[in-house]
Amino acid sequence: MVMAVSLQARCVFLGAPGAGKGTQAKRVAAAASVAHISTGDMLRQEVAAGTPLGRAAKEFMDAGKLVPDEVIISMVQERIRQPDARAAWILDGFPRTLPQAEALDRNLPREAALTHVIYFAVPEAALVGRLSGRRSCSRCGAIWHVEHQPTRREGICDRCDGELLQRSDDRPEAIGKRLEVYRSQTAPLLAYYRDHQVLREVDANRPPDVVYQELLKLMQ
Ligand SMILES: [Zn+2]
Repeated sequence: MVMAVSLQARCVFLGAPGAGKGTQAKRVAAAASVAHISTGDMLRQEVAAGTPLGRAAKEFMDAGKLVPDEVIISMVQERIRQPDARAAWILDGFPRTLPQAEALDRNLPREAALTHVIYFAVPEAALVGRLSGRRSCSRCGAIWHVEHQPTRREGICDRCDGELLQRSDDRPEAIGKRLEVYRSQTAPLLAYYRDHQVLREVDANRPPDVVYQELLKLMQ
């Protein structure tokens, strides 16, 4: 059931790959008409469309590396100016580096500054299992998991019958690299946002419904 909620939040969802940011961001955005800005989804669309940006980004993503800051920053700046993102938004997958966080702060007008940064805390051992079992629908984008959230028929989306795919960066060879990049480049953002007094933490190693309810409370 979708509960109607009103949120005026401008949030960053921060956490390691596999912490559940994307799944929760989709759900909150659908329930509260908040724009869900996923840099990963945006990049994958560019890749699928074979644009010059997409072709350049693909090489980094396949290797489990971060796409360069300047590419991501200009993509986000453009997206955040769209009419649907005027009142409220969730940034999912951005910022991932300190220069990205600083660029975001510089580019947001004072009246539209960040209101919350929510850190999704999950122990690293749990992340690997979450990532390697994750599958996403090639048609509607729904996210499933071979163990924790299986579909009725293997490889087929329950919602739209689309084919399920494993993202190239969820393959075992890329996961270790992504976690390493997270530790060295993204984890330092926790201190940055703690200093700015916008950081809240949610224990995301719990069932998705429990995490979702807590997020709605935190974002009020
Ligand atoms: Zn689907």
